[in-house]
Amino acid sequence: MRQNAHARLIKQVNSGTLLKHIRDQGPISRAELVKTTKLSPTTVSVIVEELLQEGLVTEVGMGESSGGRRPILLEFQPKARLAVGVDIGVRKSTVAILDLLGNTLLSQSYIPNLQNKQLFVQDIIHHISEILQARKSLEQDILGIGVATPGLLDREKKNIVYSSSLGFTDVPLYEALEQHFSLPIRIDNDMNAAALGEKVMGAGRNISHLIYVSVETGIGAGIVIDDRIYDGATGGAGEFGHTTVEPAGAPCKCGNRGCLGVMAAEPAMISRAIQMLTIGAQTKIRDYHQGAPAEISLESLVLAARDHDPVALSIMNDCLDYLAIGIANLINLFSPAAIILGGSTMEALHPMGIERVRHTVSQRVIHGAQRSYTIVPSQLKDRVKIVGASTLVFSEFLDYVNFLAPEKVRI
Ligand SMILES: [Zn+2]
Repeated sequence: MRQNAHARLIKQVNSGTLLKHIRDQGPISRAELVKTTKLSPTTVSVIVEELLQEGLVTEVGMGESSGGRRPILLEFQPKARLAVGVDIGVRKSTVAILDLLGNTLLSQSYIPNLQNKQLFVQDIIHHISEILQARKSLEQDILGIGVATPGLLDREKKNIVYSSSLGFTDVPLYEALEQHFSLPIRIDNDMNAAALGEKVMGAGRNISHLIYVSVETGIGAGIVIDDRIYDGATGGAGEFGHTTVEPAGAPCKCGNRGCLGVMAAEPAMISRAIQMLTIGAQTKIRDYHQGAPAEISLESLVLAARDHDPVALSIMNDCLDYLAIGIANLINLFSPAAIILGGSTMEALHPMGIERVRHTVSQRVIHGAQRSYTIVPSQLKDRVKIVGASTLVFSEFLDYVNFLAPEKVRI
């Protein structure tokens, strides 16, 4: 019997719902699935049979009986489908094969060639080819290639229009990858990918509205609204680090002044510490950093702050308050259920950093918004971009489980 498109879509959505329930709550019986998903016993039975045939779930034994026969339990099989994830960084890029739970099966990192964009793209192709070659036996299970890159992408997510950190404009990445690989390709900005990664596999599971905020050498954000990445009209939404928090603040690479990234990211903390050491301030930072002021690391500053040094604490808190003001603005604007705070700087400052941000945000958000959001640390931590890259491919598969052979899948 031919199914019409509408019925097929409903079935795919139901398949996605069931698969995610088995993933999150398994081992689980068919009867429990009927109860928790409110789908009919027939629908559950038919779809579970297909999920079993596709190897996406397996039967793992018997559960407790509630009177009658003991039910057979179903368990999710994360390795049934895989994705190639590419995390493009300035100092290090990583190419990996990941499973449906974000576990890395194989990974290789390299220093990207930023001399010219042809070599930069060739390197990416070379490393994807290598990793596919190394796992040739898995090739039929690979759903696609997901790439997380810094910079601004065009609306179709095919070209890197501009990236100040890579130093390139107009990199036709999609076209280059499409010429070399027959797999579906998904490219997105790294902050968008990170936000989706946390949503699908990290701290944001089952949260439809969230914003991921990263603090490292700069500040970035990825916005998820209604379970989808929010791009804005031109694909450039989420440039959180370039929102102004201090009209007369220090100049930013973007040409503006007092951008959040300039005022609150790690270099701002370091340069304030250098300043305090240079003017001879009384501070325990010196106990943790014996070298020249210009060589101070974030670690010395954090150690002094943990030691209750007022100078170190005031440097950190000033920067974190700028960040919190920005986050309060995000909450007032978007009303997300969760703000997920990540990046190496937040990691180094944990838990002081997130506590300060929570405190300041609670004073800044409008009354009434206070009970409806939560600010949590990143769960994926330093894997957020590579896992995020894979979820560019996986998220659509998990939402609408598609049983077509992987090479024909158009996700
Ligand atoms: Zn800026």
